[in-house]
Amino acid sequence: MTEKQSARHPPDADASTHESPSLFGARTTIEHVEEGSALAPKFDAGGLIPCVTTDFHSGEVLMVAVMNREALANTIQTGEAYYFSRSRQQLWHKGATSGLVQKVLEMRIDDDQDCVWLRVEIDGGASCHVGYRSCFYRRVPVGAQRERGGSLEFTEQEKTFDPKAVYGDAPNPTQL
Ligand SMILES: [Zn+2]
Repeated sequence: MTEKQSARHPPDADASTHESPSLFGARTTIEHVEEGSALAPKFDAGGLIPCVTTDFHSGEVLMVAVMNREALANTIQTGEAYYFSRSRQQLWHKGATSGLVQKVLEMRIDDDQDCVWLRVEIDGGASCHVGYRSCFYRRVPVGAQRERGGSLEFTEQEKTFDPKAVYGDAPNPTQL
């Protein structure tokens, strides 16, 4: 992490652990990255790596987010999912506010090590701040499905929790 990035985090940011220098290996050769046994993640120019998170038991995609080095390190060291919030520009311990912490049962890295996959269990069964189990709660009709109209179709009929009750007046992370 650069000093500029760490300066964005307030001193009381939820960083229970600090990255040990040995957590991430160097990206030396393609063979090393693709076939080796060392974690050597590729962060983009903004210092971020995308992460897809699925329900360990159902396989359902719960969310797609990004991590910075600190988030990835914290996730590895604590076994709970940390992300980087682009809307708030800070480290984000998922569930710190809502109590819906994601317990990471398995973490995988893809072939070129530029994408992370978390397989998680969630207390309370919900993941999405809108109140749904998955962030992907609407279907976009494609091809022949458009014969029934082009509107988004809700795949979850009920919210798992009431976001107003859980978050109160906290600012909505969704930005227009
Ligand atoms: Zn969501």
